[in-house]
Amino acid sequence: MAFKRIDGRKNSDLRPITAKIGVIPNADGSALFAFGNTIAIAAVYGPRLLHPQHMQDPETGILRVNYDLLSFSVNDRKKPGPSRRSQEISKVTEWALSPVLDLKEFPNTVIDVQIYIIQADAGTRTAGINAASMALAHAGIPMRNLVCSVAVGKQDKEIVVDLTKAEEDFDGGEGPTDFPLAKIANTDQYTLLQLDGKIPAERVSEVLTIADQAFANIYEAQKKALKEEFS
Ligand code: UDP
Repeated sequence: MAFKRIDGRKNSDLRPITAKIGVIPNADGSALFAFGNTIAIAAVYGPRLLHPQHMQDPETGILRVNYDLLSFSVNDRKKPGPSRRSQEISKVTEWALSPVLDLKEFPNTVIDVQIYIIQADAGTRTAGINAASMALAHAGIPMRNLVCSVAVGKQDKEIVVDLTKAEEDFDGGEGPTDFPLAKIANTDQYTLLQLDGKIPAERVSEVLTIADQAFANIYEAQKKALKEEFS
């Protein structure tokens, strides 16, 4: 029988994207990005002087990301507060976004990015990176380009993009596979590559090809939302 995804999507189909700018009026920049039922909001504050003062660097500003999965964003209530997982995702999100920012323009300062996952159905770090990238642009932070992010995985030996939680948990005999990626739009520069599970080395090019199609759609949605905001 031919392979079919749980929700009937083609292997290269993303879930419906929602991209909105300006969802948090008090922030310097903000955005919402959703892949289907995974909804991330991001707020940017700064650049502003970093305190305590001894942490200031006269050579550069710093990007400080705080990712949080809200308690009732998942079926099994998540204990509030930071966890090893949220710390890891905050750090990889900083690494995914920093290469497009010239932080040397803002010595002694911090740019705070708060990412809240208000509903989670897998792919939250990637939705968070997409939202944060848009929020940084909305805040007027000079950027080389937007960063686009998506997760690729395996289902029954097929490479598929933007997995739901049900898909992520599915064990097609080789164990579940989750491969989140981020790339600077219109470049060949990846800023996030994480692999949980197994993908044979000879299939990595298949992963990158399917991710590239997704990046193009994500970039269009991000640009459209920003253009609507600024037009
Ligand atoms: N999840 C959950 N409770 C948690 C953490 C995660 O139910 O405390 C779910 C949530 O749907 C999340 C998914 O597990 O999107 C996959 O989490 P993972 O750590 O792989 O990161 P993500 O795919 O969200 O970037």
